[in-house]
Amino acid sequence: MRKAIFIDRDGVINDDTKEYYIHRIENFSLNPGVVSALKFLQGKGYLLIVVSNQGGISKGLYSKEDVDRLHQYMTEILEREGIIITDIFYCPHHDEVENCLCRKPKPLMLQKAMARYRIDPGQSFFIGDKQSDVEAGRNAGIRTILIKPNSNLEKVLERIN
Ligand SMILES: [Mg+2]
Ligand SMILES: [Zn+2]
Repeated sequence: MRKAIFIDRDGVINDDTKEYYIHRIENFSLNPGVVSALKFLQGKGYLLIVVSNQGGISKGLYSKEDVDRLHQYMTEILEREGIIITDIFYCPHHDEVENCLCRKPKPLMLQKAMARYRIDPGQSFFIGDKQSDVEAGRNAGIRTILIKPNSNLEKVLERIN
């Protein structure tokens, strides 16, 4: 079985203060330490998998195409740094609009990812910036590291072996 670092997107990978619900490429920028931290973790043999709530789709603020375009951009800029994102899971629903089984703190996206890539939760971590991330990790049996939103991602490295 493999090990993975699951990573929340907004507030962890990218700055989420530039726009209400980031969805435009021009408002997408990586947070400090993201490139070096992800490179380091990849070098340790972790798969890198993004797990994100994108309830703005449900709310009609932007479309799935907008999200897919942004993710294409994100994976490209990381790839140029030698970082491979194995997969991106996102929930397009918002509980103010509709119910679903995937929105964090529900663990379904993490469980799907673990099944698809044969990941051992006991060797994996989830890095998030919200209580719903911590709960999703707990609900999936994965240790979660809660960071301050938009802080330097290198700070988590001392907690991952
Ligand atoms: Mg977040
Ligand atoms: Zn959902």
